[in-house]
Amino acid sequence: MKKVAIMTSGGDAPGMNACLRAAVRGAVYHGVEIYGIYRGYDGMIEGDIVKMDSHSVSNIIQKGGTILKSARSEEFKTKEGRKKAYNELQKLGIEGLITIGGDGTFTGAKIFYDEYGIPTVGAPGTIDNDLFGTDYTIGFDTAVNTALGAIDKIRDTADSHNRLFFIEVMGRDSGYIAIRSGIGGGAELVMVPETSTSIKEVISTLQEGWARHKTSSIVVVAEGDEEGNAMEIAEKVKKQISQKDIKVSILGHIQRGGSPSAQDRILASRLGLGALEGLMKGEKNVMAGIINDKLVYTSFEDSITKNKPLNQELIHMVKVLSV
Ligand code: ATP
Repeated sequence: MKKVAIMTSGGDAPGMNACLRAAVRGAVYHGVEIYGIYRGYDGMIEGDIVKMDSHSVSNIIQKGGTILKSARSEEFKTKEGRKKAYNELQKLGIEGLITIGGDGTFTGAKIFYDEYGIPTVGAPGTIDNDLFGTDYTIGFDTAVNTALGAIDKIRDTADSHNRLFFIEVMGRDSGYIAIRSGIGGGAELVMVPETSTSIKEVISTLQEGWARHKTSSIVVVAEGDEEGNAMEIAEKVKKQISQKDIKVSILGHIQRGGSPSAQDRILASRLGLGALEGLMKGEKNVMAGIINDKLVYTSFEDSITKNKPLNQELIHMVKVLSV
């Protein structure tokens, strides 16, 4: 394989640039021509594609976001859109693709391969850590640290005012960010989609804490929890207890930004190079991942459809450590 292209797609995540840098430098090292596609599948459709070299990725390893920009492309979901994208790749003689993104990005790549046979290797770039086939996704560690920093700050005010805080973190249908930031931040309770926690349980846990003279209480809520979002949960709790000093904080997009942590830079570098070298060795329709510190390739099909269960030991630990 002599010509490949790379893009970032879906939601941005800290470490995408480090991943891009590693793939580009890897291509240069191996004498492969590499092109950067701007704005994900939208840029592919519009031919917004530039040749990259070692210098194109200088001084980006520490930067959040993605220098290639990202997009959610509705047009790529249509046959006509994908045909246009294929034509643009043909013009440049692109033989393989590296896609940095989440499950939607890999779904698109798989469909594209079925139609046009362009082999693709993906790198998991999403803060949600919701992809099977890798212990961690690029951006997850940074997002947890960002959430943790916010929880620490909120704890100061919760403690000063004897307040109860519900803090909502991202993660979509996954509780990974919630459980890690909750444990790290010493939360009294963590509500995640993977296990159900009733409002009754929330109240009894909090009341037990107050009975032991806890001055502040923090409940971390994953955005996909079945009891609702943090605001809705706080409202339900408020109706049933006398403690009225209840606040809600929704951390939102700060979790997607910022300079990637050391862990994310290293993970992203391994996966960027792993994706490039995998493609060169003939891998296709797979996601590069790291499991138990080893580089592995998992089919897009499995990475998208298989469930990555949350470690139940961590859920148990929150309960034990809040006594
Ligand atoms: P994140 O997890 O951060 O949201 P993602 O890769 O899952 O990242 P999506 O917006 O779901 O983000 O997907 C990225 C892009 O992949 C979509 O905007 C679309 O262009 C393409 N895509 C998703 N699903 C399909 C599909 N069924 N057919 C073709 N393309 C798709």
